[in-house]
Amino acid sequence: MQKDYKQWALGLITGRVLFDAPLRHFTSMKVGGPADALLFPKNRDELKKAVRYARRKKIPVLILGNGTNLVVKDKGVRGWIINLTQGMKKVEMEGEVVEAEAGSSLQRLVQFSVQKGLTGLEPFSGIPGTVGGGVAMNAGAWGAELKDVLLSVTFMKEDGEITERARSKLRFSYRGLAIPSSWIILKGKFGLKKGKKKEIRERVKSYLEMRRRKQPLDYPSAGSVFKNPKEGPAGKWIEESGLKGFRIGQAMVSERHANFIINLGKAKAEEVIRLMEFVEKKVHEGKGISLEREVKVVGES
Ligand SMILES: Cc1cc2nc3c(=O)[nH]c(=O)nc-3n(C[C@H](O)[C@H](O)[C@H](O)COP(=O)(O)OP(=O)(O)OC[C@H]3O[C@@H](n4cnc5c(N)ncnc54)[C@H](O)[C@@H]3O)c2cc1C
Repeated sequence: MQKDYKQWALGLITGRVLFDAPLRHFTSMKVGGPADALLFPKNRDELKKAVRYARRKKIPVLILGNGTNLVVKDKGVRGWIINLTQGMKKVEMEGEVVEAEAGSSLQRLVQFSVQKGLTGLEPFSGIPGTVGGGVAMNAGAWGAELKDVLLSVTFMKEDGEITERARSKLRFSYRGLAIPSSWIILKGKFGLKKGKKKEIRERVKSYLEMRRRKQPLDYPSAGSVFKNPKEGPAGKWIEESGLKGFRIGQAMVSERHANFIINLGKAKAEEVIRLMEFVEKKVHEGKGISLEREVKVVGES
């Protein structure tokens, strides 16, 4: 990227700007090369300045949440990466409606609702992403999806205009939300119900316990690699294909949960991606099932 672009990013916002920051430090899989520039706008005005500027100068923009559903390639990402976790993370409530900004963590939102005695978000306990990433991915667990509790989502378009859309006007799917690629999620409004604090807390505890039992949380990963196909859980097909424990370099199909690829320490993105491709091929050959990726692969190799 031209040097100038970097300087311009600096002068544009008062929030932090990092250059050539290795994205493995900003993703849960712990792989990936540098971002040309990583911007942390402090508020909507700064975000607006950045996206309008990027649009004018044709700088590619990628929004990064907690990086828990991403595999960043080894040569990193060109252009600007924008992260909302430092300035845009307010969580507020009015009656039984909770509003959370995109940069807030989903776990903070869950904890907030527990403290306020509001029920509805318990199944999302332990999902490590942000509210923005959760809405973009329509994150879900134990049969629940975020769209079930969303009332509306507020977006910023590439010209900086802000628009709020009711859930009924949004096209959510299994682990996805169809919006123009330039739209940025700013905030979600969640419709919850009053409940008994003790019972809500107990449910959160039991969901976290189930997660700890089933998932390899002691290694870096990006969560489930593949979507569950209509034929049944992806993990079952991967396990039946004999792939649990299969390794390419430092990337390994988890022994505990076959739909997780874990980083044994120093994996390269290239190893993770080759392993994903190998799993896809084996499951297709052996079971006739085409696995679709849930994780997003970004950047240059
Ligand atoms: C151990 C582990 C367990 C997991 N368990 C689950 C689970 O049970 N269920 C589940 O659904 N997922 C799970 N995940 C995956 C992941 O946590 C979710 O997909 C989460 O919602 C991603 O949020 P994020 O902030 O990390 O998004 P990122 O990974 O940073 O980004 C994901 C996508 O969302 C886009 N995005 C992020 N923020 C915005 C925004 N503000 N506006 C527009 N686009 C945006 C990004 O550009 C990218 O395309 C798990 C991951 C791990 C590591």
